Amino acid sequence: MHDAAVCRPGVFDVAVRAIQKARQRGFRVTANTTLFNTAEPQSYRQFFDEMMDLGVEGITISPAYPYEKAPDHEHFLHANETIRLFRELLDHPHRRWRFNQSPLFLQFLKGEWDLECTPWGNPTYNIFGWQRPCYLLQEGYAASFQELLEETDWSAYGRVSGNPRCADCMMHCGYEPSAVIATFCSLRGFLATFALVLRQWGLPCPVPRSPTVREDRNAGATPRPQPEADAA
Ligand code: SF4
Repeated sequence: MHDAAVCRPGVFDVAVRAIQKARQRGFRVTANTTLFNTAEPQSYRQFFDEMMDLGVEGITISPAYPYEKAPDHEHFLHANETIRLFRELLDHPHRRWRFNQSPLFLQFLKGEWDLECTPWGNPTYNIFGWQRPCYLLQEGYAASFQELLEETDWSAYGRVSGNPRCADCMMHCGYEPSAVIATFCSLRGFLATFALVLRQWGLPCPVPRSPTVREDRNAGATPRPQPEADAA
């Protein structure tokens, strides 16, 4: 599946060998995994086991973001598909799996905790400057962090803004900071995180939900591209 996603046969085996070598030499290794709508939950559950066997310290998982300029829109996940996939993927998680993400962000991916994007939460700086507004949307660069903060209309981003480019996004770059804010700035969020950690340790514990869990996750989402009608 990995080889198909990157169009390079054999590259997964190369990556595994590189991880083994790095671990043998005492390096800390983490893995970053983007999932498309071709993902088979059972294969990915096996993949999590394999990564733990290899000594990977933590895995970041994220649904692929359907960015405008991508040549292949067919395989990106829309919001409802993301929730369905992550529910299957993370249902009864093995206790040994370690994710590099907040428990509330994983709940969000399963549709069990509602979050709104924090687009300034993971600013990107590169040789061109500070990318506006988040690294997924290419709207140019600001010369300084101050300029990025002051000149960006932050209300124009996130799902509630109605921005169609944000409608299907559930990426960690925007929503992980929101999960951290929810964990440390609300009692309900903190208690839910605590309950999720206890569950990870094998202690059954009810997990509070966010006050609003949106059922209309695909409202306003980008429609799937339809095959063009045959020319008459
Ligand atoms: S929802 Fe947030 S993270 Fe996603 S594309 Fe919009 S601004 Fe970026």
